[in-house]
Amino acid sequence: MRVAVLHEDRCQPKKCQNECYNFCPPVRNGIEVITWRKDNKPIVSEPLCIGCGICVHKCPHDALTIVNLPDEQEKDTIHRYGMNEFRLFGLPTPEKGKVIGILGANGTGKTTAISLLAGEITPNLGDWENEGVWEDVIDHYAGTEIQKHFVGLSSKKIRIALKPQYVDRIPKMFDGTLRELLEKVASSDKVSEFAEKINLTSLDKKLDKVSGGELQKGAIAATLLKEADLYFFDEPSSYLDIEQRILIARMISELGEKKTVVVIEHDLAILDYVTDNIHIMYGSPNAYGI
Ligand code: SF4
Ligand code: SF4
Repeated sequence: MRVAVLHEDRCQPKKCQNECYNFCPPVRNGIEVITWRKDNKPIVSEPLCIGCGICVHKCPHDALTIVNLPDEQEKDTIHRYGMNEFRLFGLPTPEKGKVIGILGANGTGKTTAISLLAGEITPNLGDWENEGVWEDVIDHYAGTEIQKHFVGLSSKKIRIALKPQYVDRIPKMFDGTLRELLEKVASSDKVSEFAEKINLTSLDKKLDKVSGGELQKGAIAATLLKEADLYFFDEPSSYLDIEQRILIARMISELGEKKTVVVIEHDLAILDYVTDNIHIMYGSPNAYGI
């Protein structure tokens, strides 16, 4: 099977000679492997592409990725964002009462995996032209551990708490103080008690005046304070110094004794400390992940 991805931000049809099209061997033989969108960007037909990679080398803006994968891989597609867009094969399975770590290069689908496991995205099983349907997902994974997870998600029986990757975006989503944000998930007494535990010093500052480290701790506190069954922490140690990292790692580890936790983390020492099992994700950045 072929994975053909167009990196939208890099494709500049006004600043090239359409090399992808002009040098494509099947196109030169009259086979429409590459056609054109209204905005003059190429559409690569994966079934017709022979995977020679010439377009990848000829494009002056490095805007295409073509990967050849074994045909058997196709059946493992759990989600695909669109034609010539990123796709993910397979997912780690959360394990009750354990902390699962996800490790992998940037762009290989770690955050997509969390969004799928948290039910923010319903898997479309590769059918990007249609919204994912839970019944199809549950049928597809019949008899597997992850099917139980999807059943819980689709029936809304699993309560989710998620610490997002980009904490610097939080001030754009909430106009108030850190305390006001945390009091949305817990009582004011609990918030004060927890702030002391996690060394939060900017509780009464407006979020747009709070440093990255305090925002990170605030986001972690909001997640830990939430009553949930499954907790996700997407890169919890960014912005934190080593002492703060260890403190957070201990808290996540303690949480994992009672709850199900999934952590994405680049700091290997922290990941090793907090997790029971680690899933390694690999692939081609922004093209596919396994
Ligand atoms: S993929 Fe490359 S060669 Fe093709 S239109 Fe875009 S920038 Fe031009
Ligand atoms: S990999 Fe080869 S066949 Fe496929 S689109 Fe590029 S040039 Fe054409």
